[in-house]
Amino acid sequence: MAKEMTKYEVIIIGGGPAGLTSGLYASRAGLKSLLIERGIFGGQIVNARQVDNYPGFPEGVSGFELASLMHEQAIRYGLETVNSEVTAIKQESVYTVVTTGGSYETETVIITTGSENRKLGVPGESELLGQGVSYCATCDGFLFRELDVAVVGGGDTAITDAMELMEHATRVYLIHRRNQLRANQILQQKALSRSKLHPIWDSVVEEVIGDNRVSGLRLRNVKTGETSRLDVSGVFVAIGVVPNSKVFADVVDLDEGGFIKADQLMATSRPGIFVAGDIRTNSPRQVSGAVGDGARAALSAFKYVRERA
Ligand code: NAP
Repeated sequence: MAKEMTKYEVIIIGGGPAGLTSGLYASRAGLKSLLIERGIFGGQIVNARQVDNYPGFPEGVSGFELASLMHEQAIRYGLETVNSEVTAIKQESVYTVVTTGGSYETETVIITTGSENRKLGVPGESELLGQGVSYCATCDGFLFRELDVAVVGGGDTAITDAMELMEHATRVYLIHRRNQLRANQILQQKALSRSKLHPIWDSVVEEVIGDNRVSGLRLRNVKTGETSRLDVSGVFVAIGVVPNSKVFADVVDLDEGGFIKADQLMATSRPGIFVAGDIRTNSPRQVSGAVGDGARAALSAFKYVRERA
């Protein structure tokens, strides 16, 4: 005989600020709630050395501490959690969330799986992660005091990273695959006027060089095909983010970037499935935004469950 599945009223997929807030609101509202997280609770903010723009912490707070507090608060109100990876969502009379550790039935689902940094996908990048390769200038910039570093990318993140790194590093090379930045004009002007910034246009990184630590980059000029070596102690990759939405592509509608479409109530194209945080289309990608989304999604899930009862 098949083992009976545990039934929930809401299952939240993803344990960052959006998911933990949904969990807090859903469990406080009395819904039987489960949060499924494949990695560590807290999502991307656990890597932030200092969060200065989250209300309620006038002196700032470390990302790790903020995440731990959110986790503790949600658990306190009865949110159940499990460490597992979701592989599918199936729908019959209720939804079945299939994970690597088992399946769970639920009336509603809130997807809060966020996004991850896009990788260059070149040799040396993953091998030297944390040894000079970073995706977070705020977290790691201070490690490169009076050293030369590179930032890859041409968007707002690359420019804000470069600005931040200029506070620490001797020289900041900005490597961009075109000769025009995507970042907003004011940011661009501010950054490009600084003598510490050295743009390298029309170029891509082909390899991150180093034995145990980054010592340089192999670059290729996309117009001339010429390759060269650039000596740097660190490289900050800022080439955008990729939404963690692959597993939901057949379940809900995505926008052209792969983010989940939603209305202002966080409802997706599928009744009973809601979304919150960075994975939502047009998200501001801010912790406070994720928290607001998470609350809204839980209230919508609550209404959906009670109206079906
Ligand atoms: P983005 O705007 O998507 O920019 C990504 C950059 O990386 C682009 O310049 C792109 O080049 C380049 N790129 C993409 N794939 C690449 C690859 N495989 N190899 C080399 N280069 C590659 O991403 P973002 O800068 O992270 O910004 C994301 C969103 O957050 C934006 O809406 C942005 O406005 C917002 N944001 C705002 C602030 C702020 O202070 N206001 C700060 C950070 C982020 P191309 O230009 O050639 O496509």
